[in-house]
Parts: sequence; structure tokens; C-alpha cells
Amino acid sequence: MRIVVKVGTSTLAHAGGRLNIRRVELMCKVLSDIKNAGHQVILVSSGAIGMGTGKLGLPGRPGDMPGKQAAAAVGQCELMYTYDKLFSQYSHVVAQLLLTAEDIHHSGHSAHVKDCLERLLEWNALPIINENDAVAIDEIGIHTTIGENDSLSAIVARLVDADMLVLLSDIDGLYTADPRKNPDAVLIPRVDAITEDILALAGGTGSSLGSGGMATKLRAAQIVMEAGIDMVITNGEQPDILYDIVDGKAVGTRFMGKD
Ligand code: GLU
Repeated sequence: MRIVVKVGTSTLAHAGGRLNIRRVELMCKVLSDIKNAGHQVILVSSGAIGMGTGKLGLPGRPGDMPGKQAAAAVGQCELMYTYDKLFSQYSHVVAQLLLTAEDIHHSGHSAHVKDCLERLLEWNALPIINENDAVAIDEIGIHTTIGENDSLSAIVARLVDADMLVLLSDIDGLYTADPRKNPDAVLIPRVDAITEDILALAGGTGSSLGSGGMATKLRAAQIVMEAGIDMVITNGEQPDILYDIVDGKAVGTRFMGKD
């Protein structure tokens, strides 16, 4: 199987932005094992801005563009340093791809990104992708940001014709209401189409460090389902849940790709 796994800042870091060592170590171990079992894995990892915020000791995620760029420049190094160290323990080679909107929306560019990813997979490396937050900016007439990694991971999954996209989040899946506010909320195990009713279930942004939320996850689902790719949203708290997903067990919410 070719699997794209997207991990959000809320899974990688503690609330203050510092690395959640236990969780990230386990995630890297499980992903290494899944690769050892013969699957191809691409990791789309957030965390640059969040980890930069933590490493620089800033009081919170910067609100201005230069602040975000600078925090990402610091955090991205920390992120890849961490991944390189952890995956090396299991003899896996990591590769970093930092993308902007131009790289994925411009068909000439995206073909080159695809070629690079295909070669990395052929060489059994583990591509780790993030948005190039240090240089991607939005100005009048210039639009180079993607903005969040849920959509980025969906676009990557579509680009490489993955078998599945897994979004590791701080929530178990899509619920009938916001489970943080409503105790009667029930997990929806399977979604066959993104209807108006499903879209209405999405609230705003989830955590203070990341920039995603259910709305961006449903947008990601739309992108991959249209391309015939299944997507699973599940809680990244216990990364070994990835074994169950690879084994085809019912986990979180599964969005069924069109046949
Ligand atoms: N690219 C951002 C970062 O690494 C994260 C975007 C997102 O949270 O989806 O901090």
C-alpha cells in the first residue's frame, strides 16, 4: 500500500509547542515498521511554526507574517533533525520537501514534485513534506501559501495516486456535534459523500498551535475521494493505531473514495 500520513502540530507537540517526545518516538517507530512490512509511506508533517515557537521561547504562536516565517525557519530544522534522528534508529532515510502553492498548483512544477517523490519511494526513502512557511507569503497579486497541511496532504496523496490518506489529529474522527462541547456527540464511522449536512458538522480551527480544523479536513476528504482515494481521520494520541488502519480495521472516520 502507498500511504500518505499527515500529522498535525497538536499531535507532535505539547500545548506550549515543545516536542511530545514519547508520542513522536512511537510514531516514527510505527511508521518505520509499516515501511519494513513493505508499504510505502509519505509523511506530511506540520509543526514547524509550533516547534519554532517553543524552541525560541516565544509566548505564543506569532501572529504576523515575518514572525511566522522566522518561527518556521527555526522549527523546520528542529523537526527534520528530530525525524532524521528517530528514523535513523530504524535504518530509514528521510528526505525533506518544502512546498509552496506554486509547486502544487502549477502542473509543470507538480509533475517534477511527483517525479522526485516517485524516485524517493523507489529508493526506499521516507519523504517528509511541509509547506515552505519561511518563504510562502500572500500579498496582493502574490499568492504562494497553501495555508494548512490537511489540503496539502490531500493534494500530495492525489499527486502520487496513494491508496490511502490518514490524518492524525487531536480528535477521534468526525462527530455528529463538537465532542468538546456536546457530550451527546457520536462518532461517524463512515462517510460516503461530502454532503451539505456533513459540511455543516465542521466547526472552526481546533488547537492554538496548529492551523487546521474539521473544515480543512473535509476539504481534504473532498479532494481525495474525488480521486478515488480513501481517507481516515483518527486520533494521533496512540500512533500504533496506524497498524489497525493498515490492517483495514475500522478506526476513526473513514471517507470512502469514489470507485
Ligand atoms: N506548515 C505549518 C507548520 O509546519 C502547519 C500548517 C498546519 O497546521 O496545517 O507549522
